Amino acid sequence: MNHPQKSIIRNLCRLGILAAFVGAAAAAAHAQETPAGRDPKQPVDEAYTAKIKKYTTEPFFTSPLVDYLPASKTVPTPEAVLGDVAGAPGILPYAEDVYKYMRLLEKASPRVKVYSIGTTEEGREMIAVAVSSEANLKGLDENRGRLAKLADPRTIHLDDAEADRLVAQAVPIYYITGTIHSPETGAPTALMELAYRLAVDDSPYIREIRDGMIVLITPVTEVDGRDRMVDIYRWHLAHPGQFWPPLLYWGKYVAHDNNRDAMGVTLKLTENVLNTFVSWKAQVLHDLHESVPYLYDNTAGDGPFNAWVDPILADEWEMIAWRNVSDMTKFGMPGVFTHGVFDTWSPGYLMFIAAMHNGISRLYETFGNAGADTVERTLDRQDYARTWFKQNPPLPKTLWSQRDNNNYEETGLLTSLHFFEQNKRLFLKNFYLKAKRSIVKPTEEGPAAYVLPADDPRPGLQTELLRVLVKQKVEISRATAAFSVSLPAKKPARGTQGKATGEKESAATESHEFPAGSYIIRMDQPYSRIADALLDHQYWSPDDPQKTPYDDTGWTFGELFNVQVRRVTDAKVLSAAMEEVKELLAPGGISGSGTVFAINNSGEPALASLRYRMRDARIDAAEESFDAGGAKFSRGSFIIHNANRDDLQKAAAELGIRVVALADAPGVKTHPVRAARVAILHTWLSTQTEGWWRQALDLMQIPYDYISTQTVAKEENLNAKYDVILFPPVGFAGSTTAIVNGLPTNWGNPMPWQNTPQTPNLVGKNDSTDDVRPGLGWIGVAHLQSFVQKGGVLLTVMDTSLFASSLGLEDGVNAARGQKLKSVGSVLKTSVVDSASPIAYGYGETLSAYCDNGPVFSLTSIVGGGGFRRLGGETRIRPTGRGTANDPDFNVGRPGTEAPEEPRVEAWETPPVTSEQMRNGYRVIPPADRPRVILRYADGKDLLVSGLLEGGDDIAQHPAVVDVPAGQGHVVMFSINPVWRGETRGSYALVLNTILNFDSLNAGRKPADK
Ligand SMILES: [Zn+2]
Repeated sequence: MNHPQKSIIRNLCRLGILAAFVGAAAAAAHAQETPAGRDPKQPVDEAYTAKIKKYTTEPFFTSPLVDYLPASKTVPTPEAVLGDVAGAPGILPYAEDVYKYMRLLEKASPRVKVYSIGTTEEGREMIAVAVSSEANLKGLDENRGRLAKLADPRTIHLDDAEADRLVAQAVPIYYITGTIHSPETGAPTALMELAYRLAVDDSPYIREIRDGMIVLITPVTEVDGRDRMVDIYRWHLAHPGQFWPPLLYWGKYVAHDNNRDAMGVTLKLTENVLNTFVSWKAQVLHDLHESVPYLYDNTAGDGPFNAWVDPILADEWEMIAWRNVSDMTKFGMPGVFTHGVFDTWSPGYLMFIAAMHNGISRLYETFGNAGADTVERTLDRQDYARTWFKQNPPLPKTLWSQRDNNNYEETGLLTSLHFFEQNKRLFLKNFYLKAKRSIVKPTEEGPAAYVLPADDPRPGLQTELLRVLVKQKVEISRATAAFSVSLPAKKPARGTQGKATGEKESAATESHEFPAGSYIIRMDQPYSRIADALLDHQYWSPDDPQKTPYDDTGWTFGELFNVQVRRVTDAKVLSAAMEEVKELLAPGGISGSGTVFAINNSGEPALASLRYRMRDARIDAAEESFDAGGAKFSRGSFIIHNANRDDLQKAAAELGIRVVALADAPGVKTHPVRAARVAILHTWLSTQTEGWWRQALDLMQIPYDYISTQTVAKEENLNAKYDVILFPPVGFAGSTTAIVNGLPTNWGNPMPWQNTPQTPNLVGKNDSTDDVRPGLGWIGVAHLQSFVQKGGVLLTVMDTSLFASSLGLEDGVNAARGQKLKSVGSVLKTSVVDSASPIAYGYGETLSAYCDNGPVFSLTSIVGGGGFRRLGGETRIRPTGRGTANDPDFNVGRPGTEAPEEPRVEAWETPPVTSEQMRNGYRVIPPADRPRVILRYADGKDLLVSGLLEGGDDIAQHPAVVDVPAGQGHVVMFSINPVWRGETRGSYALVLNTILNFDSLNAGRKPADK
């Protein structure tokens, strides 16, 4: 059947191609534009070319750049490894097959070199493939020397003329990364073929790329996830007509969030790509993704742009993106666009490594089928609608193949590479200028430096923060003497309504002295931009036209690490006496003599690592602060008995913990700190968010069992195995209903997650099941309840707190979504309400925490009470009558009576039981079972620390962390997420304290009123 819309597009495409030819001829006449496409003299691999045509579903889903394959007598085509052409239906190569091909290329062509760039969490190799002319590859080291000088203009004394000389000689490097997102499967084959084309094709267009630049390719970025995805696809091919299991695990720890790690750099793939990008001194990092049709260059995206991005970069994004759209439109390819919904705010994306290191970040979303099937795809209206940025939209319905996807990926890349090559002097100069502008930051926009004071009470966390900066290639200095600078004086700020809205920096300054040993992050260095972006505060206005932030809106690292970071604009800081820091070590070890050891508790995660490492030692926690051995010890400090001094010395030195030896134990009330038996509970719905928790515990060397809701359903006596069950957020698909019921089992087929000869990579070191569909079930809920009632501690977070509350695993906490609240991955301030609780050990009065829309907790003392929600801003005003708002009313004909004073109840408190409620108080929750609030959100005016906050009154002052006794055990509920992307290390101790003090959580609890 003739589809009218399709034939219109076909006609348009013919016109487009014609226009391209006319344009190319005109350009050639002026010796400017090189025509894209096959050179008539170029021999063609006819058989391969025929298959390209066969697997391309519409003539306009290809381009003159990729509709043929150049032939070579010596260099093997991707068919040598794949058994068919790149993008052929039914073929998805494992990473090792892709590597095998790249190494065949390297063997056959002097224009290809393969480099090993590191390994993954599961030990798989990552590679980078350099493709360029023989001469360029021979001169790599010399060229790197030139690029290194442009990358660090201090080496040429910021001399623009010298930079111009280097720019004229240097060969730029364009780095492409494929399939970081494992269900986005097309990039490896597209990049195999791209490498072949670049090495073999002798058309002027390709030759210009090959001779003029170096293309660096990491064909598989998430290698562990790629191999799992290929397993799943093989399973799917072997079970036609059946549902195939969703890709529940990608890398060892996280799935889609592997593209949110470019701030914390906790994953191997981030570290390996970052090291490659920076050591090669590359100009571009171009990351390939698949989602929307057919090619969305979301590099430019939408506002707001990241505030630390150089405007030069913002212009480069636009320049390359629009040229890309234009070139592909001229080829007649529909559905190529830029801008769109993606905002460019968070620097957490892998491509942002380039944006924050003076390069150019780029990202494609092409259209993939999550596998290599050719299928008819029907689009949403928003995807095929024509908009100002999508003038030539995709077709509402079309047959789509992996080859189509490969055609788009390769055509987009080749036009980008060619445009970049043609303008490389401009881009190389920009590369230098962005670095230079990073170095002159102190005297331009500022600040001059960030200072991390030597007297920070949390030297361990301070060191961890500095280590993140070192991974980011930021230079760190340490003051060799005390120094003074002027800092802005803080003063209360007023909002537009005259309402107090926290503090602001004022023009007035005050002198401040930092002690010797303070760390200084100078801003006159080439990578000052990333340090500034991580350490500064973020503000996303609720009035911003962008209403749907793509990701987190706030991330300020000093706040989330609970470490002091001072932003210093006074350039005097740069002349303080300092030395470059070569090695970062948190000071640790034993001082003093005696057989009892004390460690101050300041909420550092290393204490928990120590507890597990010194398994045989008796360790107690002091329930009150004390002085001993000339030092002060806060509540929760460790007192260690019967420990071998040498063992303790070694552990303390390695963990960066200061230990004071004492002759006698201090006379303070204590309870045992135990190496609790911990389980992390996961669903088979989604394993993404809990993956960050597994990673955090692994890095801290805290052992745990990893169990699923299905295991809990089978395990009647959880207490026999575990003291503490952590139930981190489920995130995607994590409703209470889905946690309990799982996925539909009354149709379809079982979906196993198991290692088999057909799926050898699925499980890795994670969990397995013969069917991912069943959930926790009601029996599992009962087992969890019994676990708590018999003395276990269940820790819930965000959606699992909603789960615990709605299923009645505890009494007294109502958890609900805020009605107006909008806190999209923001940093909010919390206050410690009950510092005597072991959960709060080591914390000061306030803590900045990560909050992604709550939930909002409200407390009640009545069983089944609090069905209403007390969501902030509630005021009781008197009814209409005589006098003023605060005066008593009168009653005509009788003397006035004084009403009893109503008790004031704060939003975080459990409302006291009234005498009316107690009259026959069978519904009253017994005092010992009422929730104990550990942390609450700050008052509305102080709530926002970083990011976006709207409707904050919904959650202001409400509990943020609550400890609810239930039977012999506890449910500890979090509204904040204390463990997130390696960025929230300051709040880890809330979880670790719960673990170590699991059987003493009631310590310091004030007796509630009857
Ligand atoms: Zn993606």
